[in-house]
Amino acid sequence: MEDTGTEVRHFKRGDAVIVHPLITDGSCPACRRGNDMHCENGSFPGIARDGGFAQYLLVKERNLVRLPDTVTPKQVAPHADAGLTAYHAANKAVRSCSPATSR
Ligand SMILES: [Zn+2]
Repeated sequence: MEDTGTEVRHFKRGDAVIVHPLITDGSCPACRRGNDMHCENGSFPGIARDGGFAQYLLVKERNLVRLPDTVTPKQVAPHADAGLTAYHAANKAVRSCSPATSR
């Protein structure tokens, strides 16, 4: 991370992070329910807003994912979007599954 604003509380300059591919506002009803993928004001960097291949990207801290010390952003960047797609599919399936429904 290159720098932070004055209201950023959980990250500091130099932290290793990746940016969630969907930038959300955190204040709409969907975000408040934890359904960020349905954010009323969500946008993808490089598609509906500046970013993507830009050298710098301005986002809220809620859109950042902290990386452990053993991983560099360069190592995981290609997997971030694809990994989240698989994660959301699995997470959605888990909600509709229970031990009683497995056969
Ligand atoms: Zn939202």
